[in-house]
Amino acid sequence: MFWANKDGQRVGAQPGNRGECPCCHGTVLAKCGEIVSWHWAHETNDCDPWYEAESAWHRRWKGFFPDDWQEAVIGRHRADIRTPKFILELQASSISSDEIVEREQFYADHGGMLWLLKGADFAENFELRIRDGYFSFRWRWPRQSWWFAKKPIVIDFPAFGLFYIEKIYQHLPCGGWGNELNATEFLNECGLPTPENSAKVYDLALAAAKESGTLSPRIVVPRDRDKEWQELLAMGGGQ
Ligand SMILES: [Zn+2]
Repeated sequence: MFWANKDGQRVGAQPGNRGECPCCHGTVLAKCGEIVSWHWAHETNDCDPWYEAESAWHRRWKGFFPDDWQEAVIGRHRADIRTPKFILELQASSISSDEIVEREQFYADHGGMLWLLKGADFAENFELRIRDGYFSFRWRWPRQSWWFAKKPIVIDFPAFGLFYIEKIYQHLPCGGWGNELNATEFLNECGLPTPENSAKVYDLALAAAKESGTLSPRIVVPRDRDKEWQELLAMGGGQ
């Protein structure tokens, strides 16, 4: 985790520091190596069974949001990001279907949730086909636990951007359909007060990926975003 309490303040890890976990109030130690992002780790086991080792990808996404939206303590869990509208859970590694269901049920009482997946590790197994106003996809060797998610799933693919899954079929071969999401508008819909500042960073990265020629030429221009978001929020939030 990137935040801990120290002397009554919420602070990031600094070399040699000790802090307090805002969730269990146990001691956490600053881990400030050269490879992994500076973070806090529990002296013993992490108190949150949903804990996932955090990568630069987590760091980047959390960094788009205000400090006090990150790692929000809810019961005995730390939600990655609590926006004013919903919980945004960042997921890089595989996760069991039981845990998906458990987390969705838990956060249902807190405005609903939305999954944001790190797509880099399976992007090469994911094929997008352009259709009339949407994309269909085929997912070879899919992470089948996602078949059991009921809340919206957005995948962050390098050299593409955000892909919102509208439907995933629960069988092999695995496929479905969805659409691209504009990163700026995504952050804006998460309730960011200054989307133009933070989203610019992300859009620059996307632009760089596009220039490198790795973007599929089959990508189309966005359809009606308002409608898309109404549908998304109707599925994911406010229950
Ligand atoms: Zn703890």
